[in-house]
Amino acid sequence: MGAMPRFLCDAMLGSLARWLRLMGFDTAYEAGGEDGELARRAAEEGRWLLTRDRGLAAAGPRTVWIRAEALEDQLVEVFERLGLEPDPGCFGSRCAACNGVVRPVAREAVEGKVPPFVLATVDGFRICEGCGRVYWRGSHVARIGERIGRVLDRLEAHRVPG
Ligand SMILES: [Zn+2]
Repeated sequence: MGAMPRFLCDAMLGSLARWLRLMGFDTAYEAGGEDGELARRAAEEGRWLLTRDRGLAAAGPRTVWIRAEALEDQLVEVFERLGLEPDPGCFGSRCAACNGVVRPVAREAVEGKVPPFVLATVDGFRICEGCGRVYWRGSHVARIGERIGRVLDRLEAHRVPG
């Protein structure tokens, strides 16, 4: 966990930021900010700067110029460029909305924060320490898993020669 890289995504990469968080990576996002400010923040916080802006990507050593436009392609690009292997054990450990740490929480603690039907039928609640958002296993989690699974399959396929 300690060796996991941290990221800063530029304004063009909001979806990528959310998905990196879902995969457990500490990922900041700047909706605005000029180039110099982005580069400075990334350096100060020890983050890799991910950007769609070729000029900005040339500004520092710890930057990745994201060429792909589709989300899954962008994820594959980040992992391949950095030689990273996503750790399934970390999936779901960051809040997609705010980048806060998400931790398991008792059922009683989420009473009133989730619909009664969900409270009665679902196990395995988790809560974001940053914004208080509650996560639980449900159909949206299955879809997230499918998407991440496709990305992992592609990384695996690229590693096998021929
Ligand atoms: Zn949050």
